[in-house]
Amino acid sequence: MAKACVSIVKVTDVYKSLQESLRLSDGLGGLNTNDRILIKPNIVSWDFDLPFPPYGVVTTSAVIGALVRILAEHGFRDLTIGEGSLPKLKPQGEVVYEALGYKKLQERYGVKLVDFNQGEFVPTDYGDGFVLDIAKQALEADKIINVPVLKTHNQAKVSLGIKNLKGCLSKKSKQFCHGVGDGELSLSFPRIIEKLPVALTIIDGLYTLEKGPGPTGKAFRKDLLIASRDSFACDVVGAAILGYPAKEVDHLTNYAKDHGYSLEIEDYEVKGESIADHQKYVEHDFEWSADNTGPAGFEKRGITGLAIRKYDSSLCTGCSVQFNPLLILLSSAFKGESFPNVEVVSGKQQVASTGFDNSILFGKCACHSNKNNANIKKSIPLWGCPPDLKKLTEVLAEEGIDCDYNEYLRFRNYLFDRYKGKTGFNLADWSVE
Ligand code: SF4
Repeated sequence: MAKACVSIVKVTDVYKSLQESLRLSDGLGGLNTNDRILIKPNIVSWDFDLPFPPYGVVTTSAVIGALVRILAEHGFRDLTIGEGSLPKLKPQGEVVYEALGYKKLQERYGVKLVDFNQGEFVPTDYGDGFVLDIAKQALEADKIINVPVLKTHNQAKVSLGIKNLKGCLSKKSKQFCHGVGDGELSLSFPRIIEKLPVALTIIDGLYTLEKGPGPTGKAFRKDLLIASRDSFACDVVGAAILGYPAKEVDHLTNYAKDHGYSLEIEDYEVKGESIADHQKYVEHDFEWSADNTGPAGFEKRGITGLAIRKYDSSLCTGCSVQFNPLLILLSSAFKGESFPNVEVVSGKQQVASTGFDNSILFGKCACHSNKNNANIKKSIPLWGCPPDLKKLTEVLAEEGIDCDYNEYLRFRNYLFDRYKGKTGFNLADWSVE
């Protein structure tokens, strides 16, 4: 049997490098010019209120623009770009597309722009009682071109092509994929692809991200494009470049088992650059104290009286995005005095333990699952799905935990400013010429 082929191209000029990447991988070989083609970027989140560094977080418009141009030059006419970002973006889908320059692609090439969150989702039965609500526009496409980012993920280790398809799900199904038992992350989301006509994956590696998937991670310029008509092969190579053998990534292992794939890199044909020349380990997770009482940084600062349990895979992206800000806020409340014996639990399965005077329940799931928890002396529920940062600051203040919201604002500015003037970091990569 022929090995699935994956191309790795060092980016010099995005348009020319993408052409080369598609040539080496025969990327357009599975497409017909009259196909309805859906291009699926990764726009996990965006922010118009506070500074947002998209490096390694959001698919570059440079790659999307080059792809649309190449497709148009090859005679493809029915092109759509679709994404279902975090629900917070719901009313802003159009504005995000405008900010990313996609409106120019609409004017120039007639590309349709769809925000899955504003469209219909179709309950899709996978045959064994496993049902996911998938965006109708994704199901109705003849072919999907998946354009994820080359980044790590603090829960899934890597977030590449298969993971990017989670953006085709309704909010409810996204939350289901961060479930427990059969709904556990590494078992659930790899199945999405089974019902989607993904014909080509192009991993945008202009930048890569450690401790992703959001902007709290740290980005590096990488200048790579990884492409394949085989989604799994593309992810195996992408993971290898990030320093993760496929057999160490649970969702890839599960997918391989269910679909008869090899986890050995030698079983895939790599064209172009070699993996070895670009392989560099990128950290995926935040360091936590050995006794699970908080991030390593809290221990170093001497914060006491506070036990923040490490997030698990049942914490959905919505709460994950707010979790780091929660840490910043809690850290800002430390003025040298011990916290009043507080534990923080989150997600769908963490149970507040005995021995604490106060139990902070972060997010509606933790609030519900700990409702009748006899271990709790005093509960401090932070409702919301996910909780709103300003509101939670108010709730904590009522309990004598005085967080400084300005500290969070400073943190956001810090995240953005750390790339300013840095060679290779160019916000123009999120615009279309
Ligand atoms: S509260 Fe958080 S963990 Fe629960 S469903 Fe909402 S986002 Fe997910």
